[in-house]
Order: sequence, then C-alpha cells, then structure tokens
Amino acid sequence: VETSVRILEDDVVFDAGTGSVLNSAGDVEMDAIIMDGRSLRAGSVACVQNIAHPVSLARQVMEKTDHTMIVGEGANLFAKELGIPQVPPDQLVTDIARQQWEEYHKYKRAVNELFDSQLGHDTVGAVAVDSEGNVACATSTGGITAKRVGRVGDSPVIGCGAYADNETGAVSCTGHGEAIMSVTLARTVTFNMEQGSSAQSAADKSIVYMKNRVDGTGGV
Ligand code: ASP
Repeated sequence: VETSVRILEDDVVFDAGTGSVLNSAGDVEMDAIIMDGRSLRAGSVACVQNIAHPVSLARQVMEKTDHTMIVGEGANLFAKELGIPQVPPDQLVTDIARQQWEEYHKYKRAVNELFDSQLGHDTVGAVAVDSEGNVACATSTGGITAKRVGRVGDSPVIGCGAYADNETGAVSCTGHGEAIMSVTLARTVTFNMEQGSSAQSAADKSIVYMKNRVDGTGGV
C-alpha cells in the first residue's frame, strides 16, 4: 500500500504529494496514514510540508516511534532526522492547484461550496490483502482547497480516513473530511463488516449513513 500510494502521490492528477491543493495561505499542507491490520498499529502525519511522500513518513512513524501521529513542524523534524530530503515548496504545486486557489481568492467563495464544485475527491488510498489474510491500508491527501492553516482532515485520523483489521478488512476513504470524522467512516465500514455485511454492502451502508446523519459525501 505504501508503494501504491507513493506512485499516486507523484501523479499530478491527484490531491496528494505533488498536486496537493493549497491552504488559505497558498501553501501545501499534507496528511497521510498507513495501518497494519495484523497488529492494529498505525502511523500518520498531518500538516506536513515540503516532502514528496508523506505516506512513507507515516510508515516511519509506525515503525520507528512509539507514537501514532506526528504533526506539522514535528513531522518535518522527524523527516529530517531520518534523512528524508526536503523538496522546495513550489515543487509540489501544480498549475491546477494554483488556479483553484486563485479562484477562491477572487470570488471569496465558501470553502464548502468550492469543495463541492471540484471534480471528484482526489485524495489517494490503497488497500491490500496478502496470501495469509493480512490486510493493510494507506491514505494520503493535500486536504481541501483554501482550508485554514493547520486544518487536519479525516485522512490521517485512525478510524476516519483509514482503518485496517485482519479480523474484518481494510478501508481507505475520501470525501468531506469534517463529515467523515463525524461518523468515523472507515471504522463504520469495518463495523458493518463485523455485523456480517460484505465489503461492498458495508461501504454502501456507511456512505448512506454519513449522508443521512451529517449530509456528507465521499467514497471508500
Ligand atoms: N478527505 C480529504 C480531506 O478532507 C479530502 C478528500 O478526500 O478529497 O482532507
């Protein structure tokens, strides 16, 4: 899942790594998580800047620290300790991300309205299962255009933007972060699977639940 997500982070089409959307200050702030369904161990980073592959830093948090989440300056400091190279801020910024940001400033549109007008939710994710039934998931995102500086969405939050448990399955989410967090969407999917739903039916039920409870949209 780490390798898959790294490839998607490099692809300018997606809102993760290179191609991340810009916050209200015009900067990239990225969130990512990875989780191992065998141990229920997860690692995540939030509000991280100037690194190309937040998912790999999240994996290092999982494997090399006693923590689950490291944010902002601390995450960048940890990256430095590991020798992960910093990239110049502009390297992650695409013309489309800049254009969306300029549109926001020109029209001062509400963040939610702008988010709804975007074509799809371009956060990236991957889930996998091996021959022994071990599952894993990863999610990586630049968040939503013109988000407040320091805003953290669902993506790096365990049980919200991702969840993996060998006893049920692995989930990665995209959509409106605040709504996803309200219903802990990824964990809601595995909960429905625990109750006997197939993966597809658990995903469908959880999306409908989010719509009904908090009028949120997204995908898993
Ligand atoms: N869920 C992400 C966030 O709110 C955005 C997305 O999935 O497009 O940060």
